[in-house]
Amino acid sequence: TALTQWTLASLPRQVGVPGYDRSALTAGIVHFGVGGFHRAHQAMYLDRLMNAGLAHDWAICGVGVLPGDARMRDALTAQDGLYTLVLKHPDGTREARVIGSIIDYLFAPDDPEAVIEKMAGPAVRVVSLTVTEGGYNFHPVTGEFDRDNPAVRADAAPGAVPATVFGLVTEALRRRRERGIPPFTVMSCDNIQGNGDVARRTFTAFARLRDPALAAWMEDEVAFPNSMVDRITPVTTDEDREAVARLFGVGDAWPVVCEPFTQWALEDRFPAGRPPLEEAGVQVVADVEPYELMKLRLLNAGHQALCYFGHLMGHRYVHEAASEPAIAAFLLGYMDAEATPTLRPVPGVDLDAYKHTLIERFSNPEVRDTIARLCAESSDRIPKWLLPVVRERLAAGGEVGRAAAVVASWARYAEGVDERGEPITVVDRLADRLTAIARTQRERPTAFIENRELFGDLADDKRFVEPYLRALASLHTRGARTTVEELAARGE
Ligand code: NAD
Repeated sequence: TALTQWTLASLPRQVGVPGYDRSALTAGIVHFGVGGFHRAHQAMYLDRLMNAGLAHDWAICGVGVLPGDARMRDALTAQDGLYTLVLKHPDGTREARVIGSIIDYLFAPDDPEAVIEKMAGPAVRVVSLTVTEGGYNFHPVTGEFDRDNPAVRADAAPGAVPATVFGLVTEALRRRRERGIPPFTVMSCDNIQGNGDVARRTFTAFARLRDPALAAWMEDEVAFPNSMVDRITPVTTDEDREAVARLFGVGDAWPVVCEPFTQWALEDRFPAGRPPLEEAGVQVVADVEPYELMKLRLLNAGHQALCYFGHLMGHRYVHEAASEPAIAAFLLGYMDAEATPTLRPVPGVDLDAYKHTLIERFSNPEVRDTIARLCAESSDRIPKWLLPVVRERLAAGGEVGRAAAVVASWARYAEGVDERGEPITVVDRLADRLTAIARTQRERPTAFIENRELFGDLADDKRFVEPYLRALASLHTRGARTTVEELAARGE
């Protein structure tokens, strides 16, 4: 059955459908970047609230600004904004629910004025974003807003018709200010530490280019809460589409598949009001940083602890590596002995349970997350996620043996050839340089960590260098499997 508002009632019983009257919903949220993640996460939480009889004035109007979003426009428009969310449980069962919280979709290239006016209206009190890290337009090295981006320059020009998220949002805020309507809250849900702070910096930097008075008003009046978001949501494949039709009898042009786990910790800074998200399981908190550190240092750094060893041991999927007892034990050792001591108490979270859940999530064979995805852009990941743990541990006089071994596994992986002589495709903006350096390390074992741009002065600290060299030598002489087994057993 082709999914639309009119076919909902005829879907098979095992598919959950909206239990509320969608025609009575009004849009209180405009969301930029309606991709897989938004539809697995924020839109799902709102659908939960709506099913509980809440938040009927907080429906979502999706917006796409990139040409590629025409596909999402077509898919959602044909389906009245409906789509199927499929949870893949580790035992192979799948759970499907049609989500009804997105009631409208505007494609900015078709009609930018409609997007601006939607946001300028008083009904909209939150503008949310999942536009990827690149969508915030900051320079990778300096961290500053990149004014030289051609799309941004065009939008900042006097009299420009806005085409970027920056141009559209600031123009809507300008009109609200002019009309005496209080501003909406800008809620970033991207995977960036301090995502609200980053959004504040980038949006006000853009506004300053157009209208300094508006920028000053935004700094005073617009709230940009930080959040930590978590749910592994791989790209939808044709196989997923076929499975939704075959298993659930739903003809859906663009379903979403994801793991069952979901988490959202959100700073409570919404002067214009917000949906009662705590009623749907969101942790609405005063300070989100402890949650972010927990996620970055356990989940994200944990992914790195697994991926290079996993690849060198011959695995290509995350669940295969996480199911190796030695890797799981090594990972837990890293989390318990090195990452956890750097965390602050995380209200409402049992860290031991969280860590064991992580190993279970990584081991879910249905999600089919790839090792290659985790190894890509390591030179962005290791310095942001793992090295802060090393530095904090060293400053506190703690041990760093496992984190040093993870860095050594990356250095070994970066050589670009595995233990059977097969090539490794290193995907990294620095790939060429990293591989050239890594290939000299059999003669000069500290070569990789002497790169100060990535490692700072860690190569000067023998408390890090000694376990690093031990792990690297072991990788070279005895291979990844023996190295991980020993690290797991030795508790170092
Ligand atoms: P996706 O590719 O399905 O969707 C990305 C969306 O962002 C698209 O609508 C795209 O048009 C839009 N976009 C990209 N660049 C943009 C720009 N410059 N301006 C405006 N819009 C832009 O990806 P996704 O899986 O939905 O992930 C999106 C983001 O969500 C991630 O980058 C991450 O920050 C966050 N996230 C994803 C996951 C996950 O597992 N997929 C988990 C946690 C957080």
